Amino acid sequence: MLTIDTIYIDGAFVTPHGEEHAPLFNPATEERIGTVRLGDAHDVNAAVAAAKRAFPAMSRTSEAERIAMLKRLSEAVTPRADDLVATMIEEYGAPAAFIGFSVPHAASVFLEMAEVLESYPFRRTIGRAEVEMRTSGVAAAITPWNSNYGFICSKLATAIAAGTTIVIKPSEMSALQTQLLTECLHEAGLPRGVLNIVNGTGTVAGAALSAHPDIAKISFTGSTAIGRAIMAAGAQGIKRVTLELGGKSPTIILDDADLDAAIPQALMNGLANSGQACIDGTRILAPESRLDEILARLKAAVEALKVGPATNPASDIGPMVSERQWDRVQSYIRLGREEGATLLTGGEGRPDHLDRGWFVRPTVFAGVTNRMRIAREEIFGPVLCVIPYRDEAEAIAIANDTDYGLAAYVLSSDLERAKRVARQIDAGRVAINAAPHEPLAPFGGFKQSGIGREFGAFGLEAFLEPRAIIL
Ligand code: NAD
Repeated sequence: MLTIDTIYIDGAFVTPHGEEHAPLFNPATEERIGTVRLGDAHDVNAAVAAAKRAFPAMSRTSEAERIAMLKRLSEAVTPRADDLVATMIEEYGAPAAFIGFSVPHAASVFLEMAEVLESYPFRRTIGRAEVEMRTSGVAAAITPWNSNYGFICSKLATAIAAGTTIVIKPSEMSALQTQLLTECLHEAGLPRGVLNIVNGTGTVAGAALSAHPDIAKISFTGSTAIGRAIMAAGAQGIKRVTLELGGKSPTIILDDADLDAAIPQALMNGLANSGQACIDGTRILAPESRLDEILARLKAAVEALKVGPATNPASDIGPMVSERQWDRVQSYIRLGREEGATLLTGGEGRPDHLDRGWFVRPTVFAGVTNRMRIAREEIFGPVLCVIPYRDEAEAIAIANDTDYGLAAYVLSSDLERAKRVARQIDAGRVAINAAPHEPLAPFGGFKQSGIGREFGAFGLEAFLEPRAIIL
């Protein structure tokens, strides 16, 4: 059992003022594996004060100096890649595909931001104005448990690129991962106070950080409900906010799709990271003309998935992160039945071959209408809804009939047709067929999936303000 009893302020691991402790679990075994001592408002104040002290020097650094910092940060993550993977398996339990992506991704986000800095035009002339993109001020980041390394590193990378300092409050459920990652980042030797990381609950440390008068910019990734609270807390100080929130993304299978490729792709989109990914395509829109064939193939493919611990690299679906999350997913599976959807496969309870762990049976509902709550609310588990449509226009209308707009997927054998459909979807990212990850393209949501964008030049600009000096 590990005890995490330090937080990272002003370049050093220090004992928090907060005295509350929270348990940490292995979700695959339900065993308690550690304890984290939580920071409080006093700790947040100390972290913000350190970031504020470090800000003037950081804001005057050259692009070349910041590129060097980003490269050092990237190099600092890699040497402990094996430990980072092992800790993520133990504390989070994501399947191999996601874990395999996560650690290289955490290292590469620094290099991607360095690449943006190489060519980003901080200074331009517009008529008689000399326009300079300046950092908005000391930043805060609040991150979720579902990709702890990635979110900490990408928000830190953006802050460094923008020439600002940052206080990060990660999820209290990811403290083992946070501790190890912080030890890595410490090795990069950033100037004191540039990076500060405070463990704590959302209601205590998160709330204190998002209302803090010395924070100018908040970058939040998490649920839409908490995004609203953070926006409200920041309103008093007119804080700049980037909100990366929830989703209920559609996967549109067009009637010309090659189902041999489309069905595995739809499942990859819908069940990535055990259904605990904001971008999962959890509404599968299927043409009525091919509905029976699609349902039969989906049922067979989902029943062939392996549910199990992340210690087994063959597991396709890992556990839910917590008992609370397991209960939440179960309640939505019950709700689907109550709403009159047809259970194609899966259902309540744990898979038969597992007697412990917060594992869910991968579940697909057929006969779903887009008015049902299971089609409208983010479940955040391996639960998919199949919604039939008559024609392309109806598919687009259903895809857009949602409060969210984070991602969408179009599967078709005709690229031009797929592009035509993609252009009509209100979502931050629309992927056609097996589109690869595009790290410098903007990432973020329309509607209640968020405000602003991350990654690449768009992500950098979310931490900057233009100042025009007119001659
Ligand atoms: P969450 O909203 O419960 O928590 C996110 C973070 O906010 C945590 O660090 C938490 O401690 C903190 N928090 C909670 N209450 C707070 C408050 N009142 N003030 C300030 N901070 C507070 O989300 P979660 O359960 O950790 O993560 C899952 C959610 O995140 C899902 O809704 C998912 O869609 C979303 N998400 C979005 C993206 C994206 O990029 N759009 C990516 C990943 C996850």
